[in-house]
Amino acid sequence: DSNLYALIASAAAEAGDKPALVESGAVRLRYGELDGEVGRRAAALTAAGAQPGDRILVQVEKSVENVLLDLASLRAGLVYVPLNTAYTAAELGYFIGDAEPAVIVCDPAKEPAIAPLRGDAALLTLDGDSGGSLPDVVAATGETSAIVPRDTDDLAAILYTSGTTGRSKGAMLSHGNLSSNALVLQDYWHWQQSDVLIHALPIYHVHGLFVALHLALLGGSTMLFHKGFDADAVLADMAQGTVLMGVPTFYVRLAAHPGLTRETSANMRLFISGSAPLLEATFAEFAEKTGQRILERYGMTEAGMITSNPYDGERIAGTVGFPLPGVEARVTDESGAEVPRGEPGVLEIKGPNLFKGYWKKPDKTAEDMRADGFFVTGDISTMDAEGRVAIVGRAKDLIIAGGLNIYPKEIELAIDDVPGVGESAVVGVPHPDLGEGVVAVVTRTDPALDETAILDAIAGQLARFKQPRKIVFVDTLPRNAMGKVQKAKLRDDYGDLFA
Ligand code: ATP
Ligand code: MG
Repeated sequence: DSNLYALIASAAAEAGDKPALVESGAVRLRYGELDGEVGRRAAALTAAGAQPGDRILVQVEKSVENVLLDLASLRAGLVYVPLNTAYTAAELGYFIGDAEPAVIVCDPAKEPAIAPLRGDAALLTLDGDSGGSLPDVVAATGETSAIVPRDTDDLAAILYTSGTTGRSKGAMLSHGNLSSNALVLQDYWHWQQSDVLIHALPIYHVHGLFVALHLALLGGSTMLFHKGFDADAVLADMAQGTVLMGVPTFYVRLAAHPGLTRETSANMRLFISGSAPLLEATFAEFAEKTGQRILERYGMTEAGMITSNPYDGERIAGTVGFPLPGVEARVTDESGAEVPRGEPGVLEIKGPNLFKGYWKKPDKTAEDMRADGFFVTGDISTMDAEGRVAIVGRAKDLIIAGGLNIYPKEIELAIDDVPGVGESAVVGVPHPDLGEGVVAVVTRTDPALDETAILDAIAGQLARFKQPRKIVFVDTLPRNAMGKVQKAKLRDDYGDLFA
């Protein structure tokens, strides 16, 4: 049997009475209780009408009950489809129509809006405090069900991509995809039985769900569970924690917090960052304050984790490390031919972590796959002679001005180095002569900093054609819940700057 839940259940059995989930200092679930609780919920989902292979669409607040629901779905052989809690009821209509779930679980507050959209699906509710109709069904069902056997290739989840470059696509992930990736990461990051994970990420996304949650469960590790990221609360937990997984925003906020010191972080053995690029300045500031080097890794919904900085070897800011064991990676040009090491090109990957395709989008899947099974990630990267990868940006964010390729990252790095700059995002927008004109959107730490000062500072570093035609100052860059800068929004906002 290749059901991922079977692996988690045996890890839980081994962990015995150890706390699995701790919230605000209170033990909410022990490993010894996990299997029974999950079994009852799996039986309830089956009673609600879900058969193995059916989708269960879930949009609820992060909670212990939400964790059990994910595990119950795996156990019952269902396909778990978690959704970002920020999606409105109107947006849910698209996801319900696309996923065709047998069961929908939503917050009670959204029930009236979702009920008319549910089609044939059973609709259950769950709020952030374990209230709602789902707990009632669990109590009424009152029995447990066995683990439904699954093959490696059977689907465990459909995870929608973040929608950074267009409409979210459903990525079909199998039990084999998820377990192989988690087991490789356990080894690569030297996961220990004694680890205590500070879990402050959302659990509707690959990072918080498959990397953070499943890794800790498979390791039988205690999790200090946070509903969201709060720097004070996370800092306080560092006295008991050993590992933190975060998006770059976490580290920006922690580094700015006066409470972050060598002493307050001394119990922590590993700080991991991903989902968006970590600024070199953040890496440096964090290292200076804590003496610890953040381990940056790279991944995506379609493949889980792909590359990682090494645990023992050098962790280099601005790079995402090496392809994980079992993952093949190459950097290619438009025709699919490999480019020389060090040159930018599109990153292509293959491995047991690679998804089964986009749900109901065979054309899109075929478009992104090479004949030899490599997947075209859409991320532009470089790979050095040793195989170390650096992400340059997304192919869709590449700017073509006057027929020349411009990589926004190169310009962003130059601007970020100018004293008085907070951070920057560079995009291309329509330009009457050049096709696209370079616009830099910049935040300031020095309010007196102006456009000329920045342009003068970078003039010596960047060829003329790469220099921004316009610099726009903003208070903050638009980001989504995973800390990704919304470049499509910037292109939209500044689309007629040169019109
Ligand atoms: P969509 O595919 O819908 O446009 P998305 O690509 O943002 O959205 P995700 O699968 O959540 O959806 O994100 C994966 C992407 O996040 C990667 O393709 C890459 O661009 C970016 N990413 C992840 N980790 C890193 C990292 N460490 N450095 C730079 N970029 C990263
Ligand atoms: Mg993507």
